[in-house]
Amino acid sequence: MIEVTHLTKHYGSNAAVDDLSFTVEKGQIYGFLGPNGAGKSTTMNILTGYIAPTSGEVVIDGHNILEEPEEARKCIGYLPEIPPVYPDMTVLEYLQFAAELKKISKSEREAMILEVMQTTGLMEMQGRLIRNLSKGYRQRTGLAQAVLGYPDIIILDEPMVGLDPKQIIEIRELIKSLGQKHTVILSSHILSEISAICDHIMIIAHGKLVASDTPENLMNLMRGSGSLELTIRAKEADARRMLSSLPGVQSLDVKDSAEAGSCDVLIKTEADNDLREMIFYMCAQEKKAILRMQHTHVSLEDIFLELTEDHPAEQKPKKKRRFGFGGKTAKQDVDDGEFSADSNENMDETAGKWNGDADDGAGADGSGNAAGGGYGTEGTPELKNHSGAADPQEGEE
Ligand code: ADP
Ligand code: MG
Repeated sequence: MIEVTHLTKHYGSNAAVDDLSFTVEKGQIYGFLGPNGAGKSTTMNILTGYIAPTSGEVVIDGHNILEEPEEARKCIGYLPEIPPVYPDMTVLEYLQFAAELKKISKSEREAMILEVMQTTGLMEMQGRLIRNLSKGYRQRTGLAQAVLGYPDIIILDEPMVGLDPKQIIEIRELIKSLGQKHTVILSSHILSEISAICDHIMIIAHGKLVASDTPENLMNLMRGSGSLELTIRAKEADARRMLSSLPGVQSLDVKDSAEAGSCDVLIKTEADNDLREMIFYMCAQEKKAILRMQHTHVSLEDIFLELTEDHPAEQKPKKKRRFGFGGKTAKQDVDDGEFSADSNENMDETAGKWNGDADDGAGADGSGNAAGGGYGTEGTPELKNHSGAADPQEGEE
């Protein structure tokens, strides 16, 4: 349905989209997930033909977006980040206008507009001026516009931003129902939103695709394994001997503790293998006191931050990974032979970037950390966000 190969978009020397390749199959709901400034909107704007890529190719249903833009765009309904609605029109007027733009034949127009207003729950608002609509209804109006003409592909950029929880649920249901007939791509910087709706998640960070899988597979990867941290009053060799006999231990790391005569242990197991009681009785039997025992749980968000953090490993010095004992990311730790209790370090560092709902680039680039400044290649002035008037390419269509 959509084939994207080696897509790149540079703004000055910064790559907003960096060698992105993926395919989108018919009849599924795809989620672009990534922190602000990751390149989601830029990618969507390229897919929909609003801006041209620096290099790479987009083929929509067999039509190259640059060579056959009309044909390619005909397959797509798009709700940009800021819904392109006109405040001085009523909902109905606006949809009539949009239908005209989409060259929907006069004979079909009326019936289709009615149908779309029904699907999007806009019937009782059709006579209202758009300026007087709540954010939720305005979003629905934008959505209705995207759905008009029943394009095969519907692309929605952050459709849930600014909605209250009730509206989010409603729009979510709406998108799910659209997914039954259409291929839908939506973007969000919120993990739970994407995992609630999408059949397939693509995690984007710094313009690159860092993971692409079903929510189930990602969850499994993310949930990964469990880990247990201990401090035991025992010699290193004794601790190792005792604990290595436990069932289902994937890795065991023992080293001297700061506390004299004791050692710190990290045990990695399958997520559902809880060894705490067994360890308690074993240590009691061997008369080795447990000074500390703690289950460390790696959350979805942790892994998320991990995936979206230091990628790509640009000029900044590579940092030790501190968490992520599960799944792919875990390996490094274990291989490093390193473990650390302060798994919050990276999270704190990136929290502003991920959670901060600061506008686009500002969120990432303004966080001032080395990771967030992934684009900040040497000598490059800080990126402005979209409205950065200083950008020479601003306003490009
Ligand atoms: P997202 O939608 O994931 O938040 P964007 O695609 O909007 O991310 O932006 C990706 C990066 O490209 C950001 O660093 C942003 O500041 C930069 N960017 C986007 N549009 C422009 C533009 N017109 N001029 C300069 N930089 C831009
Ligand atoms: Mg965006």
